[in-house]
Amino acid sequence: MSLRLRLALLYSAQMTAALLLFSFLLYYVMHWSYISEVDATLKSVAWRVAEGAPLTWSIPSLRSLADRSTFIMVRAEDYIVTQSSDFGSFPLPARAAAGEPTFTTERDVNGEPYRLFSLPIYVNDQPRFWVQVAQPTRLLERVLANLRPLLSVATAAFAVVTGAFSWLLAGRALKPITKVAQAAEAIGESADLSLRVPYKGPGDEVGSLVHTFNGMLDQLQELYGRLAAAVDAQKRFVADASHELRTPLTIIRGNIDYLERAGSLDPEALADMKSEAARMSQLLEEMLAMARADAGQEPELEPLALGPLVREVCDRAKALPHNVEFRRELPEALDRVMVLGHAEWLRRALLILLDNAFKYTPSGTVTVRAGRQGDGVVLQVIDTGRGIAPEDLPRVFDRFYRADPARSGGGSGLGLAIASWVAGLHGGRLTAESKVGEGSTFSLWLPIYRPASPSANS
Ligand code: ADP
Repeated sequence: MSLRLRLALLYSAQMTAALLLFSFLLYYVMHWSYISEVDATLKSVAWRVAEGAPLTWSIPSLRSLADRSTFIMVRAEDYIVTQSSDFGSFPLPARAAAGEPTFTTERDVNGEPYRLFSLPIYVNDQPRFWVQVAQPTRLLERVLANLRPLLSVATAAFAVVTGAFSWLLAGRALKPITKVAQAAEAIGESADLSLRVPYKGPGDEVGSLVHTFNGMLDQLQELYGRLAAAVDAQKRFVADASHELRTPLTIIRGNIDYLERAGSLDPEALADMKSEAARMSQLLEEMLAMARADAGQEPELEPLALGPLVREVCDRAKALPHNVEFRRELPEALDRVMVLGHAEWLRRALLILLDNAFKYTPSGTVTVRAGRQGDGVVLQVIDTGRGIAPEDLPRVFDRFYRADPARSGGGSGLGLAIASWVAGLHGGRLTAESKVGEGSTFSLWLPIYRPASPSANS
């Protein structure tokens, strides 16, 4: 059943129930007030007769006590003493016979209704006589008989009219919702998440529904965009990885062919194969590192002296191919700085920064500098190389992102993503500043580790 129909039925049922209640009340209040009026008259007449007894027990004087529609009778149990008109006889209700003033509703031989009051008169503490006063209630019965069908028809007509009215009203009230539902359906069918439900109405419940729905679409669109980007990145990764792996493999196979043909071990070809195999292992290792990071496998950290580690990496970096002056500005105080870290990953991150600096600095200088900053220590790799364009700068930490693939020197685009992950792993951060043509500065900030002193614990 539609919401519109349910609302219409509910509303008209409520209105009809209210009208039915009103009809019943009207019917019974009319009946009650008429009967109360009649009862009061009957009672007053009966008492006047009883008080005047036996002086007024004559027909003319009884007549003078009430109008012609009122019948008065004074009776003993089994005979009539006197009566105002030739009515015949009234029944004597059992309760009245037992001595209680009693009102009853009776019918005469013709079936005409009347209201009867029977008032006992006591003689020697025994009810011996009864004054009975009656009035016909034909008029009331007729009025009520006419009223019954009138009220029934009026209620039925009202139910139909309110039903129709409620149907129209519910339709009007639900129109914006229907529109929203249609728009939502159209969006669902088109599968176009950039569409929105148009709404210009007030900020009522429907307005809030549209707002929520559109907000949900915003989130879906963003989520879908991110998912699509992730899928794209994965596709790019597969393409890049295959490409990266294919090149060294081709070189190695070429060299093996050459060695086969030559029949001797040419040291140059062997060195070539070795370096290409090393490149392949490096790439595979980087991919593995990222996969492990994605799977949430975090290596355990331990307190480390940062100075010796940085110096060792710098010594290793000297062996990397470069064409620049390599400067180290490492204060002695660095040797006393401890960090909670993973030595191998820290070495790897620093080497990535140094390797990049060498790769992207054709001439000039590359400087490694260390210093305190806030609660931490900052390691900077500063080069005077080609720099990074402002539009590329925010993206260089993305996986597989290479600002200029043609000039990236065979890099996979994973290096900075790994270094940035390492910074996060240590509770630090990796940031970059750069100017095209002037050089770049990569800053790795790490929090200093301060072990709780034994005296502080005791
Ligand atoms: P890649 O393996 O390509 O070097 P990275 O993630 O290490 O991957 O670096 C991403 C990109 O950022 C590089 O392709 C390069 O364009 C740019 N980049 C990184 N370091 C530097 C730098 N020191 N100078 C200029 N460009 C850099």
